[in-house]
Amino acid sequence: MLKFWKEKERYCGKAENCLTAILTTRGCSWRKCYMCGYWTESRALGNEALKEQIDQVFEKLGDVKILKIFTSGSFLDEREIPSELRRYFLDRCKESGIKKLIIESRPEFIEKEKLEDFRGIELEVGIGLETANDFIREHCINKGFNFSDFVNSAKILKQEGFRVKCYLLLKPPFLSEGEAIKDLIDSAEKVIDYADVISINLMNIQRGTVVERLWERGIYRPPWLWSAIEVLKNIKTEVICDPVAGGKLRGPHNCGRCDRDLVSAIKLFSVTQDKSLLDLDCECKKVWMKTLELEDYSRIPLFP
Ligand code: SF4
Ligand SMILES: [Zn+2]
Repeated sequence: MLKFWKEKERYCGKAENCLTAILTTRGCSWRKCYMCGYWTESRALGNEALKEQIDQVFEKLGDVKILKIFTSGSFLDEREIPSELRRYFLDRCKESGIKKLIIESRPEFIEKEKLEDFRGIELEVGIGLETANDFIREHCINKGFNFSDFVNSAKILKQEGFRVKCYLLLKPPFLSEGEAIKDLIDSAEKVIDYADVISINLMNIQRGTVVERLWERGIYRPPWLWSAIEVLKNIKTEVICDPVAGGKLRGPHNCGRCDRDLVSAIKLFSVTQDKSLLDLDCECKKVWMKTLELEDYSRIPLFP
């Protein structure tokens, strides 16, 4: 039920220990994004089971003071975490001296009244904007909200003194590799005024999704790790990236020989922000560069 692991998280410019936990809930209320298979992990277990999972989180905590909670949906969605359990969870955070709490939510659940419960905790809310381009978000991702929805929610969070993490997605379907890189760099420029930190998700192929069907038919390839390096080098604010399934066919990958080095460099960069770590090379970099050149040459661009 509860999944958890310890990892490093950037806090006040330093790498600190963090407990990451995934609570099993009834899952995302939207469930329509083309790349998302999180709903397969959701279960409507009832409030007692949810409370047990919350208790388990604090049993696992030890002396860790940074807590990241995922739900495969939105922590602030009342249907996933009812308000009484949210308050119970927050009381336990306060008792345990949590220094920083990181949660995720779709914009429609970010409301001023709900945020009042979080007073006294350093809160960071991750919002899966994916791209600042409304056309791509609607037609290539099916996200179901606009850039303006993200901006409004980010403003509410900032007004309450909380931090905003903006997730951007590298390589939504139907974009070429080059278009995806450009979209991500452009998006990062546009969110800089609203987000404290940008987190880049590199597409990985999840089961039961539209993206999986495109991938099975050979009309979608997850991004190259070189593309991830390219965007990380070009973003001018704090940016992090966890290359989930990096080096695997279903995840972001290169030639197979250099993948492990690139994945390690990206992870280390995420906690240090040291761009010199991203100066890497491999024979396959030339193939990636040719891909960027030829893919756009041989197809009708989505954005002429
Ligand atoms: S990506 Fe997020 S908003 Fe979209 S279906 Fe998955 S959990 Fe819901
Ligand atoms: Zn290589």
